[in-house]
Order: sequence, then structure tokens, then C-alpha cells
Amino acid sequence: MEKNPSETAKTAKTSTRAGNYFISNYPPFSFWSEGQADEVEVALNSEPNPDAKLGLYHHIPFCRKRCHFCYFRVYTDKNAKQIQEYLDGTIAELKSMAERPLIRGRKPHFVYFGGGTPSYLSATQLGDLTDQMKAILPWDEAEEVAFECEPGTLNPSKLTAVKDIGVTRLSLGVENFDDHILEINGRAHRGPEVFRAYERAQAENFDQINIDLIAGMLEETEENWQKNIEHTIELSPDSVTVYQMEIPYNTGIYKDMQASGQLVAPVADWETKRRWVKEAFAALESAGYTIASGYTAVKNPEKSKFIYRDELWSGQISLAWEWHPSRMQLVCTTRT
Ligand code: SF4
Repeated sequence: MEKNPSETAKTAKTSTRAGNYFISNYPPFSFWSEGQADEVEVALNSEPNPDAKLGLYHHIPFCRKRCHFCYFRVYTDKNAKQIQEYLDGTIAELKSMAERPLIRGRKPHFVYFGGGTPSYLSATQLGDLTDQMKAILPWDEAEEVAFECEPGTLNPSKLTAVKDIGVTRLSLGVENFDDHILEINGRAHRGPEVFRAYERAQAENFDQINIDLIAGMLEETEENWQKNIEHTIELSPDSVTVYQMEIPYNTGIYKDMQASGQLVAPVADWETKRRWVKEAFAALESAGYTIASGYTAVKNPEKSKFIYRDELWSGQISLAWEWHPSRMQLVCTTRT
């Protein structure tokens, strides 16, 4: 049966098309211009505002495999020597930044390892990297050290190393528990690795274990989404983040859409994804969680904080490193 015009308009409005809904920094990168580099220089050469806390964001741009929905700058083909060069580059950059008036003599209030996959690094690489970082800007006053992980990379010795460097929040990129959905979305891990990693992480006694889920992955179904919620509640992590699947322009899914001339992504529409998030939050609330943001539920709001996220949005300073692919250099930015 043909749809009437109002139904067609509604479908067009709620269908998932290429673009972003999630803003991870402000202003978004697409609004940055070269001229703003001068403003960054002025900021780095200024004395700090005593009320603004300092944070570090270290980007580890390596992954075992590129997920089809990934829009981050990641590399899956770098060898140990190239990874070491990158890590050495970040240390050289941090040293240079730590001499600037804005940063000199300060201690970070939070440290965040994102990616990519920080847990892709070996235990030795992690130890060496963080020893050097701490020697430059000591972490002894950091209230939060957050670390993103891909479950399949977490063997027992890696987890011990992650705990030993001082990580307070371990964030497990579960996204989905179903092997077929994980596979069809290009994830490197499978369901059993999630349960193994979770058990090992619990044994290490991290202050906070977080589970990430994505509502609306390729081939997600009503039934499977409910199972994801059930598995999450069974594991009982300290916090849960639920993102809605988006299809930015640099994803594998968008490239496939372009090749076949499709405007609408082959994933659930926004109405369904919003409902799935709502259902997840309702179930988590019934299990005793508190909704702490548009995409986060926490078991104990007094204990489980997201300092990096909250301070980034409230005017604190974050030093963030990124890999510059064409010149194999690092650029350091301040986010204020
Ligand atoms: S693990 Fe994360 S960063 Fe790595 S490819 Fe997948 S989505 Fe991208």
C-alpha cells in the first residue's frame, strides 16, 4: 500500500540519514578555522585562570579493526615501532606544552584516555607512557582517570596494568552483546569476551566500571535490544552510557550508502532509537539506577561521576592530542 504524503514526510523526518547528532566538543571541529590557531597560542601564553581546572585527554588512535560505524581517526595497520613513535611524539608534545605559561606547574584534575582503543597498547607501553606523563604533569591530585577499552583486548595482565597506572573509571565498549550484530557492524570483539573482561575488571576493583551500548546498530531488533538491556542489568556496572547510532560521512556505512545511492541508512529510525534509549533508561531506573545525563545512567550518583565530561562543558581546560596523518606530527589543542 502506498503511504500518504504526511506519512512520507514523517518517515523522511525520522529516518536515519548521514550526519551527526552527538556533539563531543564545542565548537565542533567543522567550525574550527586556521586563524584560531593564533587564539590558541595567545591562550597558551597567558597565565591560567585560578578557577579553571586542568585536564588531559590522550588520544590513542589504534584499533584491532575499524567498525563500520566508526568516525574517529583510527589506524588498524601500525606496527609496534610506529606505535612507539606516536607515543614518544605525545610525550615530546606534552613536555613542550607543560612549559607554556597556561600549563606550567599545574597538576591535572582529570585524565582521560580515549581513542581509538587505549587498551590496544601493551601493558609495557601503558606503563612507560604513563610514567613519563606523570613525571611531566603529576597525577596525584587527579580525581578521575578514565580509560576506554575494547573488551577483546583485556587479558588479565593488561587489566592489572591498567589498574596499576591509576585508572579510576574503566569504560567497556560493549555496544551490543549479540555476536551476529557485533560481526555485521565490524566490531572486533564478541559476546563471551565481554563477560570475561567484565569479570576480570571486577576482580581488579576499579572505582567505576562503565558499559557503553549503542541503540540502533545494523540489524538491531526489538527482541535483541531487550536482551542487551537485560544483560547489562545482570552485569550491574556502576554506570551505563547509551548512544544512538549515527552515520557520519566518514563511516563505512555511509560509503556503502553512497555506492548504492541510498539516502537513508539501513538502521532503525530516530523515533525507534529514542524509544530504545527510553526503554533502557526505564529498565535501569527500575533496577535502582539514576539518569545522570541524556545518555548516562549511574548506580550511585554520589560515587560515580563523569568529571571529564562535566568539566569539559563547564569551561575548564583540556589538553588534547591528535595524530596528524599527513605529516606524522602531533597537534595539541586546548579546549576551554
Ligand atoms: S573500536 Fe571504537 S574507535 Fe575503534 S574502530 Fe571501533 S568505534 Fe572506532
